[in-house]
Amino acid sequence: MSTRPADQELNRETLDAVLKRRFFYAPAFEIYDGVSGLYDYGPPGCALQTRIIDTWRDHFVLEDDMLEVDTTMLTPHEVLKTSGHVDKFADWMCRDLASGEIFRADHLVEEVLEARLKGDKEARGIKEDVVEDESAKKRKKKVKEIVAIKLDDNVKEEYETILAKIDGFSGPELGEIMDKYKIVNPVTGGPLEKPMEFNLMFETAIGPSGKLKGFLRPETAQGQFLNFNKLLDCNNTKMPFASASIGKSFRNEISPRSGLLRVREFTMAEIEHFVDPLDKDHHRFDEVKDVKLRFLAKDVQSAGKTDIQEMTIGQAVETGLVDNKTLGYFLARIYLFLIKIGVNPDRLRFRQHMSNEMAHYATDCWDAELHTSYGWIECVGCADRSAYDLSVHEARTKVKLQVQQKLDAPLVEDKFVCEYDKKKFGPLLKKAAKPVEEWFESRTQCELEDLAKALEAGKIVLPEIEGVEVAGTELDKSHIKIEKKTITTHVRDYTPNVIEPSFGIGRILYSLIEHCFWTRPEDASGAKGVLSFPPRIAPTKVLVVPLSSQKELAPFTQEVSKKLRQARISAKVDDSSASIGKRYARNDEMGTPFGITVDFDTVKDNSVTLRERDSTRQVRGSIDAVIAAINVMTADDVAWEEATKDLTPFDSTDKE
Ligand code: AMP
Repeated sequence: MSTRPADQELNRETLDAVLKRRFFYAPAFEIYDGVSGLYDYGPPGCALQTRIIDTWRDHFVLEDDMLEVDTTMLTPHEVLKTSGHVDKFADWMCRDLASGEIFRADHLVEEVLEARLKGDKEARGIKEDVVEDESAKKRKKKVKEIVAIKLDDNVKEEYETILAKIDGFSGPELGEIMDKYKIVNPVTGGPLEKPMEFNLMFETAIGPSGKLKGFLRPETAQGQFLNFNKLLDCNNTKMPFASASIGKSFRNEISPRSGLLRVREFTMAEIEHFVDPLDKDHHRFDEVKDVKLRFLAKDVQSAGKTDIQEMTIGQAVETGLVDNKTLGYFLARIYLFLIKIGVNPDRLRFRQHMSNEMAHYATDCWDAELHTSYGWIECVGCADRSAYDLSVHEARTKVKLQVQQKLDAPLVEDKFVCEYDKKKFGPLLKKAAKPVEEWFESRTQCELEDLAKALEAGKIVLPEIEGVEVAGTELDKSHIKIEKKTITTHVRDYTPNVIEPSFGIGRILYSLIEHCFWTRPEDASGAKGVLSFPPRIAPTKVLVVPLSSQKELAPFTQEVSKKLRQARISAKVDDSSASIGKRYARNDEMGTPFGITVDFDTVKDNSVTLRERDSTRQVRGSIDAVIAAINVMTADDVAWEEATKDLTPFDSTDKE
């Protein structure tokens, strides 16, 4: 078993208790009462995150020969102004002027409508906040009151339609919904202001003068785009190629909630795959074409439904559901990665963004969503960002961020071209001559055609051009000629498009924990939690337990530990006086997949017992043989049956 059985509901209270007791993670600054949305990872959480990231590196960076970079988190204002984040990276919030409370508009609508629909059940995400502030507690109470409202069938249907489309509403639309359905402050019942935009970036100043404004980066992507030319060089100017980066990002979330799922500082792993816009095929697509995925398409959501279509990625690309093979390749690879680390495939779907929901730069976007007790959670975004980022940075910096492709056969085209009469153009425009020339050179062919017509009719009147004061200046044929000419080119310049899979490691980690958590039937000591992480992902691989505290076992315990260390297998010794069953149970909830018991037979023949966490079955063999079996199970994903086939089945007397 590696995920919770379908018929066992998650017991979140038990899980939360385990995560807290074992210090997987905890609110940061807890002894100062914590700060919402900031968490520290303890030893098992930290090790789990490292394993997930290691697997990510192997699965993506190594497998597809990606170029990994580590770029700075502090980003100057200008970069994020150009990328559009200063103006558009915002969520909608609404304030209660009387109480001073602030709500994220879409979350509030979602919570209240879900609570009203669920009737006796509580709205998700309210009860369970790890750091529950006073207002959250009050909100919980109020939601319980609201659910008492009786809804007729028509209203229920309207609610369901709104919920299916919740990610796609603009602020004004959310405001209308709140007015129509009388959504007020759930704590006080007081009115709320209309939704307002709130930029999610943390602002700072770089250097002592305070003059250079900057932000903590909200994504790792920009650092990769800005290094495009160097990366292209690293790849011997060959296209397509991908860069990758793992690092912290920061978002000043309006209402952080649901533990690790919505935080203000989180680790992201992002890939930027640069591709020719005229050829978005992928040379390894055939390797994944038969991978079956569960899709939630945008038109299904627009119709207010959540029906899943299951098909292979090959079919999805063929039918046009997924736009191109590169995007399809990455969706399948994301699926394979998530399954490899232990995600339950039945609790994984790919949801397409609706047109009005897509980020300002994206042309097509799919989210890998994992189902948790908080609902479906976006854990990986996979967007086709088109040529947006490279184009805007090029336009701003005037540094070409393009690829020069040598053409097999020369390209012969009739094109409008501009010729400037230096003797007249320069003296007329003076310092503005260069920017005006650049303005002409960046016009499209259609625009040049219109300008040529204007010139033919007498003159071009210059419009506003950024950085120079030339609006209204008139140019005639003595200054510039715009004519169609036959041009032969041997190279093609193009701005690559970018397909971007973007992983939130914390969300994946938490969802994985939920998928892997289950409980064994209760006995006198209560329900026993088990975290069934796949061996390669488990924070610690082996628990070494001496059967008794008698001195003669100690050298063997040490030998086992030493040999495990030499084999680079992480292990912990538990030589406490608790019963062996209790010691194993404690480690089952840490997700430790294997246990080695050192007993009195070890002293006689150097053999030990190996126990498997999920089934609790055991085998026996020499220390070396047991460690070799563990090694192939953790490093190479070899199954228990295969890895232990030469070891002797052992009838356990330690029934837990
Ligand atoms: P985005 O750039 O918004 O598509 O986010 C990329 C990924 O980052 C998402 O798929 C999430 O996994 C993760 N993410 C975004 N915002 C948060 C947050 N506030 N807390 C934790 N993870 C986040």
